[in-house]
This record gives sequence, structure tokens and C-alpha cells, in this order.
Amino acid sequence: MELSLFGQRFTQKSGILELMEDLGTALDAPRDIAMLGGGNPASIPAVNRIWKERLEEILKDDNELEVFLTQYDGPQGKLSFLQGLANFFKTRFGWDVGPENIAVTNGSQNAFFLLFNLFAGEFASGRKKSILFPLAPEYIGYADQALGHDSFRSCRPKIEILSNPYFKYFVDFEHLSLGAETGAICVSRPTNPTGNVLTKEEIDRLSDLCQKTAIPLLLDNAYGTPFPGILFEDIEPFWNETTVLVLSLSKLGLPAARTGIVVARPEIVAAVTSANAILNLANSGMGQTLLLPLLKQGALYQISQTLIRPFYQNLRDFALNCIAQIFAGRFPYHIHQPQGALFLWIWFPELPVSTRELYELLKARGVIIVPGEYFFFGMPAEDEHWKHRQECVRLNYARPATELTMGLQRIAEVVERCYR
Ligand code: PLP
Repeated sequence: MELSLFGQRFTQKSGILELMEDLGTALDAPRDIAMLGGGNPASIPAVNRIWKERLEEILKDDNELEVFLTQYDGPQGKLSFLQGLANFFKTRFGWDVGPENIAVTNGSQNAFFLLFNLFAGEFASGRKKSILFPLAPEYIGYADQALGHDSFRSCRPKIEILSNPYFKYFVDFEHLSLGAETGAICVSRPTNPTGNVLTKEEIDRLSDLCQKTAIPLLLDNAYGTPFPGILFEDIEPFWNETTVLVLSLSKLGLPAARTGIVVARPEIVAAVTSANAILNLANSGMGQTLLLPLLKQGALYQISQTLIRPFYQNLRDFALNCIAQIFAGRFPYHIHQPQGALFLWIWFPELPVSTRELYELLKARGVIIVPGEYFFFGMPAEDEHWKHRQECVRLNYARPATELTMGLQRIAEVVERCYR
């Protein structure tokens, strides 16, 4: 079978494919495996009950059932949902948005594919543009999404060591350069894989840079505020005309609903809508129907703040305690300050093996993690041998306590052996 260049690009062995395959295999297999790899959200009983009640309401109401299952929506999304969401943003946060500022996509992964390829690649003038990630490491799922070659540029962060065992990455503005070839800036906040939350000052500065150069700031809010609320600091949601805010229903506990939300200037929303029609005809409407009354009552924000945030915060604290007990004194390690998202980013300074090798050793021992190397895509050649890239791993801490503890114990055994 001969594949086109597009075909080759999308069938190569990518980090995200490996990660999702590991996730599928581990979730299906009734084995003694600690699945600390993928980004599956936790199953939160109190939240699941809400979805169940909504589904029961829908099943009882023939009109709602019809809307839920039997219709293609327009390619922008359900008008009632766009309106409800715009009202929520306007009344709660004072954003000057209407339905023309919002488009729905089939998951936010799909939104990023569209946005990256709208703003990077080859332009009519023959010029090439790229997406700038001002702070590597960044989300592995972006890495293979650009249709053009060399469409991503990432910058090495400043590293600040905090009180033991924590450290934190910051954008290195001194070395951040935007040129005519920069099509957009992109950050996830909270960041997957690190749990970093870029400070308000960092976001303001990035937004200013984008405004001055008339490019969009793509802000990935898969974990943040106002929903799903896997964010352990009191931070106001951020949006302005320069920002393309991308939200998702997945980490509300609805990854199967495949619903992403783009909030942006009307011409960007129109571009996403056109691309939606070509690629998907319409989006999955189920998540939108499920959520609509919760938006109207402002309940979604409440669920995020009072159910989801504390649930993850407890899991995070449990994981940090386990690590302190299991790792202490056995080998050197730092943890990125875990301010949000469902991951811990652990740095093993001077680790004698690469994290890909560590991944294989751990997999053989029944623990799945994600090697840190994957998250440093798009970096300049001079950073190729930056040792830090080979010394970090990502763990999903949103797993049952026994599985997490078993996984951490096995990680400690294997890492200890590596250092010896
Ligand atoms: N962005 C980030 C930072 C993520 O971690 C994920 C998924 O884990 C996505 C986007 C895509 O999520 P979805 O397509 O389920 O909305």
C-alpha cells in the first residue's frame, strides 16, 4: 500500500498514538497494571450522578431525545448551547461575547488541529509560518498535528527550584523572539504535562506580544477555569479579542461526548465553522444537550468548583504524600509545582537512562507512565542535548489509591536500580 505524504505523516509512530494505545490496552485488560500513563479523567460518583439524572430527563422527554440523538446540528454547534454559553461568560465574567464568538468542535483535540493549520504552514504569499510554544514541555497531543513540516517552535523555560521537592517552569521572555514567521502562540494552562499554571503576568505579557504582532494567543483550557476546574489556585478565566480560548467537556468527566469549545473573534469562529462542515459535517451534539440546563442555572461552574476541584485536589495530595513516603532518600527527584491538571511531572536529575528506556523498564514491571521526551517537540537544534529533556516523566495521579501506590512503589524500585 502506497501512502501519500499526508498518509505517512498520520501513520507514523507518534507519541500520542502510543499513549492512547497503552491507555486502551490497560483499561481493557484485567491485569495487574498501574495505568499512570494516559489522560483519562477520574470517575467522580457525584458528577456521574448528575449526568445520569440528565440522561434520565432526556429519555423521558421525546423532544429532548430527538434533539439529543436524531439531528445533525449546524457546523458551529447548537444555537441554544452557543447562546447559553455566551450568556454565562457575559454575566459571570463580563466578557463581551455572543454566539458569534463560539464554535463547537468534536473534542478540543480536533479544535487544535484546525487552529494550528489555520495559523501555521504555507501561506498564499509563499511564506511559511509556525506556532510558537513559549514554554516547553507542552502537550504531547499537539506534536503531530501540523500538516506542514517545521510548523512548531518551542522555547526552553527558566527553571526555578522551590522548597523541596518542588520546582517550577517560567516563560523565558528574554529569549522569546517572535518574527514574521510566527503565526500564533499556544499554551496550555494548566499545562499538560507539568501541572504548571502560567502566572497572570505571563499571560498578560504573551497576550500583549500577540496583540502587537496581530496574531492569536491560543489558550488551551482543557483543565482550567471556569470548567472543568482542575485548578488548585484561585485564578480568573482569561479571554480577550486576541485570545482563542479552547475549552473541553472531557475533563468534566465526559470524554466520550467528544466536545470542544472555541471562544474567539467572529472571523476565527467562522473559519472553524467552515472547516467543521468540511471535515465533520456537524459536531457531536450530545454533550451540548446534556449540559444546556446546567449552563442556564450556572450549575456547571458550581459543579467544577465544589465537586471536581476538591476531588482532584484530594487525589493530588494523596499522591504527593505517597511519593514523599515511597521516594524519600532513595534517589534524587523534584516535582513540578502541581497547580492544576491531573498529572505529576517528576524530574530525576542526572537519571542514568533516558525516560524512553525508563518507560520500557516500567512497562515490563507493569507500570505505564509517559516518557518526558515526547513533550519537548519543536525545540531548536542547540537544545537537542539538553539533558533535562531526558530526565522527566509524567504520571496521571487520578487513579484508584491501591493502583497509584503500587505504581509508585514499582517506579521507586526501578528508578533506584537505574541510579545504582
Ligand atoms: N489539550 C490538552 C492540554 C489535553 O490534555 C487534552 C486531552 O487530554 C486535549 C487538549 C484534548 O482533549 P479533548 O479532545 O478530549 O477535548
